[in-house]
Amino acid sequence: MLLYESTSTSRLYTKFAGIVSNRPDALFSLILLIFPGAMSRKPRIVILATGGTIAGSAASETGGSYTSAKIGVDDLLAVIPEIRHLADITGEQIASIGSQDMDEQTWLKLAKRCNELLAQDDVDGLVITHGTDTMEETAYFLHLTTRSMKPVVLTGAMRPANARSADGPMNLYEAVATAVSPESHGLGVMVVTNDTVFGARDVTKSCTTAIHTFQSPNFGPLGHIHAQAIEYQRKPQRKHTTESEFNVDQIEQLPKVAIVYAHAGADSALAVDAFASAGYDGIVHAGFGNGNFHSKVGEALHKATQKGVHVVRASRTGSGAVTEAGEVSDTELGSVAAGLLNPQKARILLQLALTVTRDRERVREMFRAY
Ligand code: GLU
Repeated sequence: MLLYESTSTSRLYTKFAGIVSNRPDALFSLILLIFPGAMSRKPRIVILATGGTIAGSAASETGGSYTSAKIGVDDLLAVIPEIRHLADITGEQIASIGSQDMDEQTWLKLAKRCNELLAQDDVDGLVITHGTDTMEETAYFLHLTTRSMKPVVLTGAMRPANARSADGPMNLYEAVATAVSPESHGLGVMVVTNDTVFGARDVTKSCTTAIHTFQSPNFGPLGHIHAQAIEYQRKPQRKHTTESEFNVDQIEQLPKVAIVYAHAGADSALAVDAFASAGYDGIVHAGFGNGNFHSKVGEALHKATQKGVHVVRASRTGSGAVTEAGEVSDTELGSVAAGLLNPQKARILLQLALTVTRDRERVREMFRAY
C-alpha cells in the first residue's frame, strides 16, 4: 500500500513537474491545493507611529488649539476596531513629535527600520502615522531609500484625535486598506488622506488647515478610495524604492543642504555666502518662476558653485518644472535644474545624490531620473 502510494505520488509528481515547466502558474495552483490557507491569511501590516496631529489632543472638541503627538499607536487603533478586519496589525512607536520637529536622524532611523521590516516574510506592508507639516518630505525620503515592492503608506490628520469629525481614524483605516491592496505593490511610497492616494514624489501640503490639504499640483493623485476600494488612475514613472541607488543602511549623517528663498529685493546673497562659508555641501535656491533669481544672488550662487558647493535651482511657484533651458544657463552657473521637484524635495534628492557622487553631471542625471 505504502509502495503503491509512493509510486503513485512519484508518478503524480513527474506528471505535475512536466506541467509546471510549461506553466509556472500551475505551481501556484498546487501550493493552493496543498495549503488552502495560503491565500486566506490576513495581510500583516506594521504601523510605525511618529506623532503629529493624528495623535494630537485638543482642549475642546471644536476648538483650534491642540498639542500634537499625545496619543500612542494602540489608542489610535482602539477607536477603529474595523481595521482589524483588514489586516493583522502590530504597532511600533518610532517617535512622538509634531512633524515640524522631524529631522534627518529620525528619517535615517525610520528608513532603516522600514527596510528591516520590509525584508521580513511575515510583513506585507507598512503604514506610517506622521504630522502633515513635513509628511511630503519623509514620504519622498523613504520613496528613495526603502527597497521593496511592498506598499509603504504615510497618513496623518488635520484635526486632533479628540476633535469632532476627526479625520485621523478614517485616514488610518484607508491607509491600511491601501497597504493591503495588491494593486498598491510597486507604486513606491504613498500618502493617503481624505479618500485620496498620492505619490510621494508629487504630493505636497497645500493648505494650512483644510482636511483636503494634500494635493499633487502637476499630475493629480494616483487614485481615490471609496468604501475600501481603491481606484488607481496612474503609476509613478520615475525611479524609486527597488530601482533606487541610494542606500542609507550605513549612513549616520546626511550631507548638509540648505534652502534659500527668493523674494523681490531680497538680499539673499547674504544667506548664500553664509551657507557656502559654513561648509554646506549644497544649496537649493527656491527661486522665482522658472528657477530665476536676482542678479546679485546669481553672483553669490556662481561663487558658491566655484567653491564646490552644489546648487540646485528650484521654484517657489508651487507647480511646473524648473527647466534646464530657460533664462539661466546651468552650464555657466554650474547648477542643476530641479525639474518638477519642489524646493524641499529637491533638497532631499540633492542630499541623497551627494551620498553617492560629487560629480555635477551625475547629479544632473539623478535629477532627470528620480
Ligand atoms: N504641526 C503638526 C504636525 O505636522 C500639524 C499638522 C498635522 O499633523 O496635521 O505634526
